[in-house]
Amino acid sequence: MTGGAGTGPVIVRVDRDRCIGSGMCARSAPDSLALGADGLAAPLAEYGDRGAELTEELAEAVDFCPVEALTLHAARGGYRIDPAE
Ligand code: SF4
Repeated sequence: MTGGAGTGPVIVRVDRDRCIGSGMCARSAPDSLALGADGLAAPLAEYGDRGAELTEELAEAVDFCPVEALTLHAARGGYRIDPAE
């Protein structure tokens, strides 16, 4: 997935059973994701609840997570944007 035109605010979810704490997402999208004290990825600020603009960096982080632990959802409605279901 590339770009965010037309998607509206998004949230990102971390499947904590899948995340291996590689930190790749936090390095590539530091405005959206960080490693928590438990060593697993967690969304930052609005990306965890209200939603914020989808950035190219976040879209790439979702696509490149080595264990497919990240999913993007529309903040309004909650439907999954990426990866496609
Ligand atoms: S890239 Fe994937 S496995 Fe690595 S920290 Fe982020 S969510 Fe976890």
